[in-house]
Amino acid sequence: MKHRIEALRKIMQENRLDGLFVTKQENWQYLSGFTGTNAILLFTLSDNYFITDFRYLEQAQQETEGFHIIKPRTVVEEALADQITSLGLNRVGFEGDNLTYSQYAGYKEKIPGVELISLFQAVEKIRQIKDEQEIEDLRKAASITDQAFDYILDFIRPGVRESEIALEIEYYMKKQGAQKSAFDIIVASGPRAALPHGVATDKELAAGELVILDFGAVFAGYHADMTRTVVLGKPDADQQKVYDIVLTAQKLALEAVKPDVKCSQVDLVARDFITVNGYGANFGHGLGHSVGLEIHEKPAFAPRDDTVVRQGMAMTVEPGIYLSNWGGVRIEDLVLVTGSGCEILSRSPRELIIL
Ligand code: ZN
Ligand code: ZN
Repeated sequence: MKHRIEALRKIMQENRLDGLFVTKQENWQYLSGFTGTNAILLFTLSDNYFITDFRYLEQAQQETEGFHIIKPRTVVEEALADQITSLGLNRVGFEGDNLTYSQYAGYKEKIPGVELISLFQAVEKIRQIKDEQEIEDLRKAASITDQAFDYILDFIRPGVRESEIALEIEYYMKKQGAQKSAFDIIVASGPRAALPHGVATDKELAAGELVILDFGAVFAGYHADMTRTVVLGKPDADQQKVYDIVLTAQKLALEAVKPDVKCSQVDLVARDFITVNGYGANFGHGLGHSVGLEIHEKPAFAPRDDTVVRQGMAMTVEPGIYLSNWGGVRIEDLVLVTGSGCEILSRSPRELIIL
């Protein structure tokens, strides 16, 4: 955690802050290791303070290191204001995209003499580059996800409900050590596969349908995310054709992921290929997103995201084609940007699986 806090202090110096407090859950988890649900971290240029309520005092002592743990007399917000006052801080940063307006107004009232400076995505920017521990956890999450895909193939057949498949995947992932499912599992069969976010329903699978499965395991807070599309029985010419276009688009995009290219350029590689093949209008979402402690992080492989790709970013590559009243195909893998390209963390086969 030390190098993470050092990076944060650099941001404090750049913004001429003598204090900074962190209120977003994933961010305090990242900076302290604390896994509870209520905390505020306060940093000065020399010290780290951890404020939580009575329920979590013992857990905070066990999970964190290098923090002065503060026991609030009332609520954590009150304790933070008191601490800022007693330390005599003047210019204090906060997470402008996390604090609500009423919380902000509350601090303005409690510590009127303190200049409060709104920071945008400060900790998130540090989180964009994954360190070794994070990469290890992401690998584990991806591996559980792969195992679940392998396991579920035997279960997928006409007559089974989408919701039964989702439940089985979730149960299996947890048995393999996942904390939870990364999001509501998507099982979208037949015409429902035209919905990019078709969360499983009680619809029964039918012969001849394409089935999109999009899911991921969470391990030690880190999210995996993978999509495979399978077909029930021999694919017809259109199903095979659309599948092949998506697969090639993904392959080209995976080859384009490397340090120093813009995220939008990687998106364009897949988008161009799908467009020249006639389905540009049917690929209505970005090519991918970053993952980590949250399922959707920045930057994204999207037309308007010109962030430069850097080594250590963990991102998905997930082109898709969706046709209403017909269905859809999406193939998604989680990759880690290396010094010269990317390593694909999901290992499940990408060729069309016929069940
Ligand atoms: Zn996904
Ligand atoms: Zn995704």
